[in-house]
Amino acid sequence: MLSSFEELFRGTPGNPYLQQLLKGFAWLRFEPQLEREYDQYLGAAAIRQRRIAIVLALLIWCGFVAVDLHRLQPFAEGVPLSETAGWLLHLRWAVLGLLLVAQLVLLVKRLEFLTLPLTPWVIALTGVATALINMLYSRLGMQASYDGVILLTIAAFFPLGMTFYTSLMVGLVISVGSFLLAQWLLIGDYLRAFNLTAVYLFLGVLVSAGGGYLRDHNQREQFLSRHLLNWLAERDSLTGLYNRRSLEQKLALLFLQARRQKCRIGLVLVDLDHFKAYNDSYGHRAGDLALQRVARVLHDFARRPLDMAVRLGGEEFALLLFDCDEPALHSLAEEVRLAIEQLAIEHRSSATLPVMTASLGLALSGPEESSGALYQRADEALYRAKHAGRNQVLL
Ligand code: GH3
Ligand code: MG
Ligand code: MG
Repeated sequence: MLSSFEELFRGTPGNPYLQQLLKGFAWLRFEPQLEREYDQYLGAAAIRQRRIAIVLALLIWCGFVAVDLHRLQPFAEGVPLSETAGWLLHLRWAVLGLLLVAQLVLLVKRLEFLTLPLTPWVIALTGVATALINMLYSRLGMQASYDGVILLTIAAFFPLGMTFYTSLMVGLVISVGSFLLAQWLLIGDYLRAFNLTAVYLFLGVLVSAGGGYLRDHNQREQFLSRHLLNWLAERDSLTGLYNRRSLEQKLALLFLQARRQKCRIGLVLVDLDHFKAYNDSYGHRAGDLALQRVARVLHDFARRPLDMAVRLGGEEFALLLFDCDEPALHSLAEEVRLAIEQLAIEHRSSATLPVMTASLGLALSGPEESSGALYQRADEALYRAKHAGRNQVLL
């Protein structure tokens, strides 16, 4: 499938999604601009998953708070709480606070942008704190379990909007962090018991990382093909210019924008002269190549972000120029006409010149005019340009 895309777009304005798909991304890294776009896409796509994950985490954590209160009896009369037990409870509350902040950030629309940078920290700190709390239980001579730490290491690789490398960092912070803390805080049988679990902890990172790699690779592929499909739906397949459908869609939006900004939209309709005769003399394939070369010229004239170069169909093109006035529209159209002539595509059966030429019709939007009326005026101007002898620009 990819090689036929490549075939289709050879020599047309480049598409970053296609290029990245063809180049591959075994190291799970795109070109910098695409990588930023992917990061945002991933973050936005995973908001719902993070909402579910944080609610679950809060529920589970509240369950553990209840277990602590039951085991340590901090409010029992006459029994003072040991320093270790005090630390343990502080830690439990601190993480509860962290999870509540994460929940708040997810609930308030204006803070949503913080969730992505916050998520890895929340998982990593919760993981390390879980390990630490259980080590403190051990130090109190009470039974401790590190299964929760393993679960959180695996959770770092859940689809929560983090790239593979971020998940890996989180998994390593939890496992290595817990391991180092244990060597410092635990002794004897407690340490031996932890170290046995640590083997599974590191294996957990390894196995989840394998899954995480495949997940990120898959998501990257989906991201590229989805954007490529959008791109294709907006474009003409021969030239890579926008197609008529996307012109109609964008025109409505641009008209609203122009009304708000009190500026005008310039429309240039371009029709190649004697193109049927060109096809007849040089063949359809040569005709296609000529269309691609003309398209490249138009593409280069749509320089500003809201400008558009369009292939309307056949040998008809349009240039849409946002925020334009009459002298600018006229001189740009004249430059386009000249640039097409200067491509010097030989056309021996043209009655106008021995090279490929184009006729151009212009119109500038009025304050209350509809897009349909604008198009109609440009089309009439084009008709007049054809009848006045072709290879010319008329308003
Ligand atoms: P005029 O100077 O009045 O514009 O004459 P024309 O021959 O350019 O206009 P006409 O509308 O009669 O012919 C357009 C030709 O464009 C007919 C068709 O064969 C050719 N054409 C349309 N689409 C394509 C295409 O995708 N590739 C090629 N090679 N030719 C195409
Ligand atoms: Mg035509
Ligand atoms: Mg024509």
